[in-house]
Amino acid sequence: MVGIDESFRVNLPNQQADGGRKWLYPRATSGRFTRWRIWVAWGLLSALFAGPFVWVDGHPLFLFNVLERRFIVFGVPFWPQDFYLVAIGLLTFIVFIGLFTVVFGRVWCGWACPQTIFMEMIFRKIETLIEGDHNRKRRLDAGPWTTEKVVKKTTKHGVFFLLSFVISNTFLAYLIGRDQLFAIITDDPVEHLGGLTSMLVFTGVFYLVFARLREIVCTTICPYGRLQGVMLDKNSLVVAYDHLRGEPRGKKVKNEHVTPHSSLFSLNAPKGDCVDCKLCVQVCPTGIDIRNGIQLECINCTACMDACDAVMDKIDRPRGLIRMDSQSGIEQGKPFRLTGRIWAYSAVLLGLLGLMGFLLVSRPVADVTVLRAPGQLYQRGPGQTVSNLYSVEIINKTYRSMTLTIRPTRADARLRFVQPLGTLPPGSHTKALLFIDLPERAIHENSTPLTLQITANGEPINDIETTFLGPMID
Ligand code: SF4
Ligand code: SF4
Repeated sequence: MVGIDESFRVNLPNQQADGGRKWLYPRATSGRFTRWRIWVAWGLLSALFAGPFVWVDGHPLFLFNVLERRFIVFGVPFWPQDFYLVAIGLLTFIVFIGLFTVVFGRVWCGWACPQTIFMEMIFRKIETLIEGDHNRKRRLDAGPWTTEKVVKKTTKHGVFFLLSFVISNTFLAYLIGRDQLFAIITDDPVEHLGGLTSMLVFTGVFYLVFARLREIVCTTICPYGRLQGVMLDKNSLVVAYDHLRGEPRGKKVKNEHVTPHSSLFSLNAPKGDCVDCKLCVQVCPTGIDIRNGIQLECINCTACMDACDAVMDKIDRPRGLIRMDSQSGIEQGKPFRLTGRIWAYSAVLLGLLGLMGFLLVSRPVADVTVLRAPGQLYQRGPGQTVSNLYSVEIINKTYRSMTLTIRPTRADARLRFVQPLGTLPPGSHTKALLFIDLPERAIHENSTPLTLQITANGEPINDIETTFLGPMID
């Protein structure tokens, strides 16, 4: 490739020669991808902020209360006993992200990651509103501390801090729930020192991320970004520069064949389509030059595609000099095709989704554990009966109260409760202690299989298999 500055291989775009931070001032973009990104971003932001505050049937849509081990996903409650579902869900999510990355590169990072959405759609836009476009921001930062600079910087960081506080509160609402969050805000602060400290720590972290770290999160800190190198192959769709079409790059010279759209440039010299305007570099939030090829820092935000399409429109060349394409697509003109790796990932993903769906649908509404009391074998009772002592633990996984009953399926078995089952409030658990009596003559083995049927509000919810110990009568 002609004209490539190889220094990108050893220098980070946001690093000075002396190793210090080089602040990036990405230029704002407009165009079809930017418009779609804005729609996607506002949709996702609305969902993110609504998640813990929208309640259905008296419960939030989402809750991830790690401390109390209570989880609600799309209004469905999950308990520590459902941890296997969380594990399979996480595995499914990881495979999904893997498959998504193999096929679409880092589109997640540029279009759906909260870090990018907050940074590019909220914090950067507010910064532009207060400090002006990329050139004004650069001049302001380079200039002396005038009254204007102090006012603008104070206003910007004040708004950033407030926004970080709002994000921190939302994040906390996901963890502890809306009501507990409101209690922290409205009660005497002394009663919620832990909650207030978390709130301030999260606020500080978000402020640091959006005011200072910015693209460093995507290029250096985020492990997903670092993994991309092993996930992508030459058939993955990524934001790519068509070097065959674009090179040799260079300014075009005006000639007599100027079209109505080509007031700035027109075709004359035998050069590629890239006019080396560097707009694709100026709009890049991570500061890279996509013309150097696929790079770890590219978050596939597609800003450079919009910038370049606008240039192509002006010089009357087809759009898509920078486009979503694979390395094979660019170099061999091959259309995107499903590779063996994609099929394999898809099969695993479908399998996991199927398993997840089955487990969710067949998940019992209550978790029941029946154990014979430890250290006890059996007792002989009056009327030639033998009894075993059992403990029963039931967890109500629903939002409804449950009036519970338990009965053995054998007609000759009798129950005697030491500690009875009662009505179980939503999301709580109860324990019962009970004896089961069997006539001695019905016992033909040391360990007799026994089935206990549990009902809630009159509906059978679980059949539990256990064993009954007794003396063997021939
Ligand atoms: S925006 Fe397009 S034409 Fe301009 S430098 Fe980038 S690739 Fe070349
Ligand atoms: S190279 Fe293009 S797609 Fe990649 S981060 Fe920069 S602007 Fe976004």
